[in-house]
Amino acid sequence: MIGTMRATTVCPHCAEDVKWAAKVCPHCRRRLVRWSKSTWVWIAYGCVSVAVIGGLAACIIIADNRARASAIVRAQGIARALGCRNYPAFVEFQADMLREEGKSWSEIEETLALSAGQCTG
Ligand SMILES: [Zn+2]
Repeated sequence: MIGTMRATTVCPHCAEDVKWAAKVCPHCRRRLVRWSKSTWVWIAYGCVSVAVIGGLAACIIIADNRARASAIVRAQGIARALGCRNYPAFVEFQADMLREEGKSWSEIEETLALSAGQCTG
């Protein structure tokens, strides 16, 4: 039996040698929490997943905002070029309304440009 269960580690609380298999330190009676390598692998995996999902979500939000801004700026430019005073302020509202109806930003851009081209005041 000598040599089979002799692996020891150091208690992180009292720095005494304790058996590797011990769950509670025999010296200070505190719990020996030991995270295995696979636990760390899972934690790392979780962190990477969160970062990737967060990055993708950020990219989607940025792309969405850019498409929205581009559609609005284009329609406002058309309306201003035609001398419409009230329409530019209405463009953003109309853009978000169309977005809520489930239209894509390219469809919205065309609709807004058309509306801006027909505006009268
Ligand atoms: Zn201890």
